[in-house]
Amino acid sequence: MTTSDQWIEQGLTTVAGTYGRYPLVAVRGEGCWLTDNDGKRYLDFLAGVAVNNLGHCHPAVVDAIREQAGTLIHCSNFYHIPAQIELSRLLCKHSFGNRVFFCNSGAEANEAALKLARKWSSDNFSPQRHEIISTIASFHGRTLATVSATGQEKVQAGFAPLLPGFKHVAFGDIEALHQAVGPNTCAVLLEPIQGEGGIRIPPSGYFKAVRELCNERRLLLIVDEIQTGLGRTGSLFAYQQEEIEPDVMTLAKALGGGVPIGAMIARAPYSEVLGSGTHGSTFGGNPLATAAAVAAFNELNRPQLLQHCNAVGAFFIEHLEQLQERHLVIQSVRGRGLMIGVELSCEGAPIVNKALERGLLINCTAGNVLRFVPPLIISRTEIMQAIDILDAILSEHSAGATTA
Ligand SMILES: *Cc1c(COP(=O)(O)O)cnc(C)c1O
Repeated sequence: MTTSDQWIEQGLTTVAGTYGRYPLVAVRGEGCWLTDNDGKRYLDFLAGVAVNNLGHCHPAVVDAIREQAGTLIHCSNFYHIPAQIELSRLLCKHSFGNRVFFCNSGAEANEAALKLARKWSSDNFSPQRHEIISTIASFHGRTLATVSATGQEKVQAGFAPLLPGFKHVAFGDIEALHQAVGPNTCAVLLEPIQGEGGIRIPPSGYFKAVRELCNERRLLLIVDEIQTGLGRTGSLFAYQQEEIEPDVMTLAKALGGGVPIGAMIARAPYSEVLGSGTHGSTFGGNPLATAAAVAAFNELNRPQLLQHCNAVGAFFIEHLEQLQERHLVIQSVRGRGLMIGVELSCEGAPIVNKALERGLLINCTAGNVLRFVPPLIISRTEIMQAIDILDAILSEHSAGATTA
């Protein structure tokens, strides 16, 4: 049998080094728990980075995959695919959308949205009107176009020349957005809450003002709900809490219940822009992925689950705020539903490592923000286990700081 050390050694030498990996060899998941190669169990508050919203191996998703795998795994998009059609209908019925383009990841969904924006503007105005405005500290993916849209130097470094036609303004600053719109602007691309940027929530009214600006200047409003979507913030989609409707929305992460899938949803008339031959994806919306996503969607869209997400999210924030009272290193606690960030006055990485040792999986974004995106089925008992682990680590941490 291969030992964990052997897996790690082989992984570090043969798999591309694009991720700094923790010394954990993952072999099994069940609900909110991940088990490693040595049988150690971890409470999973990272959930595959906001993918496993239903927990690991949800029975409805597992059954749908098993059933579809034995029937038809893949066929070309040259043909009609029932599960894909069913998923499109579900997504449109429960959003503002009229049509869905399917792909395999978040970056691809944003890529499709950017292409749609440019083609719409080129067809209806001029090819010069192609600029897209996104925000500083945003994250939209790792392809060249989505790296160009992403407002983070560390993501862009070394990949010049980036795609021209992207501008970045401060997130939540409507005045800055007004200033940035020019005659060649065609679209605005925003996350409802910045995820990788450190769980940043915009001021209330921001999205309404953005919607108005987009209407006035005839700009496409693209909302990147890849992390915030599918129940994560306590509503099916985060835009619904802003009392606006975007023109285009991108989804991925939780959409397939763990199976890779991305989607771009557009409302009419924008939904008609990408016609036959303008865009595509061999695997996009394939039978296996869409069958898994239909099963996941029907579970995620249950009112009881969204209520649970809001209730335990509030419970979690309350207990994190109690930790804040006792641990000076906590600068702020913020979040919506079960998308929660704890900003520290120190680097987050050592805390994440200690949490791992104690059997709690979390990560750190933007250097000093601990991110908590557990499965939406997380219980109060499991939240208290996480709180107790954090409490112990932060006590140790401050004791270390005073003796150092
Ligand atoms: C994760 C993420 C992406 C990229 O998704 P991939 O599937 O990794 O390509 C894009 N936007 C946001 C907001 C994300 O959180």
